[in-house]
Amino acid sequence: MSVVIGSESRPLRVAIIGSGPSGFYAAESLLKNSEIISEVDMFEYLPTPYGLVRAGVAPDHQQIKSVSKVYDKIASMDRFRFWGNVQFGNDITREELLDTFDAIIYAIGAQSDRAMGIDGETKIGSHSATEFVAWYNGHPDYKETLFDLSHERAVIVGMGNVALDIARVLALTPEEIAKTDIPHHVQEQLSSSNIKEICLVARRGPLQAAFTNTGTKEIPELEGAVAVVDPEELKLENNTAEILKDSNDKKMIQNLQFLESISENQPDPSKRTIRFLFRRSPQEILGGDHVTGLSFVVNELFTDDEGKIHQTMTEDLETLDCGLVFRSVGYKVKPIDGIQFDAKRGTIANVEGRVIHAETSETQRGEYVVGWAKRGASGVIGTNKPDSIATVDKLLEDLPSWTGEPLVRSQAETVKTLLDSKEIHYVPFEDWKIIEKAEHEEGAVREKPREKFVTVHDMISVIKAEKLG
Ligand SMILES: Cc1cc2nc3c(=O)[nH]c(=O)nc-3n(C[C@H](O)[C@H](O)[C@H](O)COP(=O)(O)OP(=O)(O)OC[C@H]3O[C@@H](n4cnc5c(N)ncnc54)[C@H](O)[C@@H]3O)c2cc1C
Repeated sequence: MSVVIGSESRPLRVAIIGSGPSGFYAAESLLKNSEIISEVDMFEYLPTPYGLVRAGVAPDHQQIKSVSKVYDKIASMDRFRFWGNVQFGNDITREELLDTFDAIIYAIGAQSDRAMGIDGETKIGSHSATEFVAWYNGHPDYKETLFDLSHERAVIVGMGNVALDIARVLALTPEEIAKTDIPHHVQEQLSSSNIKEICLVARRGPLQAAFTNTGTKEIPELEGAVAVVDPEELKLENNTAEILKDSNDKKMIQNLQFLESISENQPDPSKRTIRFLFRRSPQEILGGDHVTGLSFVVNELFTDDEGKIHQTMTEDLETLDCGLVFRSVGYKVKPIDGIQFDAKRGTIANVEGRVIHAETSETQRGEYVVGWAKRGASGVIGTNKPDSIATVDKLLEDLPSWTGEPLVRSQAETVKTLLDSKEIHYVPFEDWKIIEKAEHEEGAVREKPREKFVTVHDMISVIKAEKLG
């Protein structure tokens, strides 16, 4: 007997994979809908929720991280369940979820980095932005990653807000670091760093810098660093100057104002220097096993027929000595078996959030995508809300054509039985709150917002200890 889905007796059962902003906004949109009754089971790889709000947003931006309170409210809604420490694709498969749920929403973010594709990228000292960001934010997978901070110069390839976050964190003084929730072991290493100069390098010119006012506004306020750019770097070619003349692009104008404001600055030997370099494409990471430098080719900019700016390489080569290279040149989703991957955009292939099947290239019944996995690594936390609502709207548009079997037992019980049968130590939301409480208590002792647990083992141990009383 098949029944209509979305009623009190037969709720719409949705699995959301990932507990970052997009996952929570999708859950909220489903659970707040007054016409359709939904149950949401959120599966998260880590025992801790909030995705990049916890593991990406810079630790000196506690105000931004406090958006997690909004997600706590969503987690407290009826018919919401959180299953932390459950890895989709490993602990629980797509086939199992398709059998158990009416719909899956992938909210897995874009967790891999794009490579620069140059020689030397695998040398010790060459890292992705993801690795460093995850390390200083206490992501358990990166606890053991080593960053050699003994050299005097670090180079960041890329000129977006993530690149600026990395530059800022490298430039924080021990006192500034102590006020953040950077884990203790990272705090120690950053506080004794020998880095004197942090260079950010972009392929194109100052008008094309991808960062925004959000990223630049704190740079001049850093206690222990001075930001510099050679005025020569800001000289615009005739063709790019034309763009500026006709433009009302607020971001571009603000970026240029920021760069002009620091162009008179001189390095201060008592402080670190953050240096902005433009029109340079990385050519090769130099050194033996370890990074000792980065070579660049100098670019010239030209405008195409549509007025877009491109770079062309000149014969001029430059080398910067350095011990660390971070690439911050884009993110891509980790592909999922059975689902098409959009290699160009680095996303799960989709049409307005409806996922595309790997073989048929048709949209896949009952599978959806939200957030960075849907549209690529763009936008701020708030951008994910309308984006998730739009995908949920597509799901609800599709719903009338579905019918389902009546439920023989509650969905909570079904999921629990499935995870128990695999002996998975899942972490429900109330257990995450035990972890969080312990982090805040330890943070209070150390006079910082929280001291994060950086291993899954320690997180599980604190839950067990609390339950044993
Ligand atoms: C370094 C950095 C700094 C940022 N700073 C800011 C900022 O200051 N302000 C701002 O507004 N925005 C900032 N952003 C952007 C913001 O973080 C993103 O817009 C947002 O996090 C994207 O949300 P999401 O849900 O798509 O992905 P994510 O936040 O990445 O969440 C994805 C979740 O899915 C989980 N997951 C992945 N794979 C699996 C799996 N197989 N099984 C189970 N779970 C899985 C992950 O563990 C993660 O919890 C920053 C981004 C980065 C990278």
